[in-house]
Amino acid sequence: MPQWTKQHTGLVSEETLAYGNVHAHKRIDPVKVAASWSPKLGIHFMIREWYKSLPYDWTMAHHIQNLDYKVGWFVSKSYVSHKEKNGPISAVAVNADQYLLSEPKNDPKRYITQLTNAAIQFIKANPKFFVFLLHNPDYFGHRPEEYPGGYDREIRRADAEFGRILAVLPEGSKVVLTADHGFDIGRDTHLNAWKIWMATNLEIDPYFYRSGRRVAESIDVAATIMDHFGVTLPEPLQPRGQSLLK
Ligand SMILES: [Zn+2]
Repeated sequence: MPQWTKQHTGLVSEETLAYGNVHAHKRIDPVKVAASWSPKLGIHFMIREWYKSLPYDWTMAHHIQNLDYKVGWFVSKSYVSHKEKNGPISAVAVNADQYLLSEPKNDPKRYITQLTNAAIQFIKANPKFFVFLLHNPDYFGHRPEEYPGGYDREIRRADAEFGRILAVLPEGSKVVLTADHGFDIGRDTHLNAWKIWMATNLEIDPYFYRSGRRVAESIDVAATIMDHFGVTLPEPLQPRGQSLLK
């Protein structure tokens, strides 16, 4: 989730306090946390205070919606959904023009088709759209020991479903295909999650680091997309990432 938060705000975890699948707006006091442990419930009570959604106006969906685009939010994880109001970027789900949560844990065979169908319907219904579609191969193998097998198959299925989206996109549509992480080569860890993996038909400069800019990171996704839309923001909301556009 920290990577999704970065990708949707362009802000770093030190600013959003979204370090994990939950986040805190306050600095964490470890002494108070320890004291708030409830053996009965098996949770630290204080954690409830930290579960807060990032403000909607921190997200690129908000800025793009302000440009009269309709926002469609079709997701497969509860912490980016309307259901979990305190998920780090669930504010987008709350404010989107259309929203669907469909999770593989409820329907592993059809969840992905339901999301794709909803996205296709939304694209056809709205001449100006900004769609976020989150498939979930993680569920089938976030780490091999967590969910054995199926990861590779689910990546292929996501690829095929994405093809159905591409088939209905109006001419001139821009697409960004990305992920919050892959696996470290030959291992089941995600230590390189901050590195970018992105395929797009935006006019990006694949060799931009030759002009002295640092190597791209996932935080650059928001900066790139907002640059494409011509969104400029005042501090402190300006993306910390760099635009990859040519
Ligand atoms: Zn994951």
